[in-house]
Amino acid sequence: MFENLSDKLQRSFKNLRGQGAITDENISDAMREIRLALLESDVNLDVATNLVEQIRAKAMGSQIATALSPSEQIVKIVHDELVALLGKDIAKFKTASQPPSVILMAGLQGSGKTTTSGKLAAWLKKGGHRPMLVSVDVYRPAAREQLAIVARSINASLYEGKLIDGEAATDSVLRLAKEAKRDAANFGCDILIVDTAGRLGIDQVLMDEMARLKALLNPSEILFVADAMTGQDAVKSAKAFNDLLTITGAVLTKMDGDARGGAALSIRQITGAPIKFIGTGEKPDAFEPFHPDRIVSRIMG
Ligand code: GDP
Repeated sequence: MFENLSDKLQRSFKNLRGQGAITDENISDAMREIRLALLESDVNLDVATNLVEQIRAKAMGSQIATALSPSEQIVKIVHDELVALLGKDIAKFKTASQPPSVILMAGLQGSGKTTTSGKLAAWLKKGGHRPMLVSVDVYRPAAREQLAIVARSINASLYEGKLIDGEAATDSVLRLAKEAKRDAANFGCDILIVDTAGRLGIDQVLMDEMARLKALLNPSEILFVADAMTGQDAVKSAKAFNDLLTITGAVLTKMDGDARGGAALSIRQITGAPIKFIGTGEKPDAFEPFHPDRIVSRIMG
């Protein structure tokens, strides 16, 4: 995770070592290197520009009266600005006052949505909840079967439901969702995780379906699952999705394979929604709430 970015930032900090004070000149060199490090790590251009401007302003303002060396000052400022960019605190996972709370999972095909639905259920179980899973992807029987396998592997409740011959797809989606919510309530499950149909891109029919699911289920969370390895593409789809449906958070998957970190550093500022969880592997327990400070420590090395 973040190896490339971390190496490049270290290099720019190193170049400041041995400098007696922060000057216009050495700060400009450092800012150029930091900006390049961010852009080469696929951080969004606006995000990188803003971040560097913040760092520059703080660095110039911190010239006087400090016991820290210039490189130490910059390291501290970069650290603090990255934490501010990612959100200082862990974003809260919301539940409804009246169970069952509904969590709508959205994302492009292959982003890790089904795997993440299972991981979230396993994490909730560990926290003392009784989650139930349902897949409303009536377009792909394999997707529903995959969720059933995931549910079995973590020993979580699943609402399977039945498809009815001749029923329109959207009607089936809404009916399954409604039945699952009722089933969750009947079985004392306090959280229903709804795995929705994956999309190849932002697709109007599926977005309409998502809007109807949102209206029907009144979800506590709408989580957009994005593959961190796809960098700015992940950010773009999260933004498009958020513009249409207002997500409550993002889950970044495949962080274990993401050496650059561009999506992780850009997604909150671009969409306005916090990263709530990260996926760090294929196994059900390779999943954790997103801790901005821990991630920044990783980046800073
Ligand atoms: P969906 O089409 O969005 O439902 O995606 P899937 O849940 O089927 O996941 C697609 C692939 O990504 C599968 O091979 C998963 O095992 C893999 N995957 C999901 N999350 C992670 C993760 O955090 N790390 C890694 N390395 N692989 C993941």
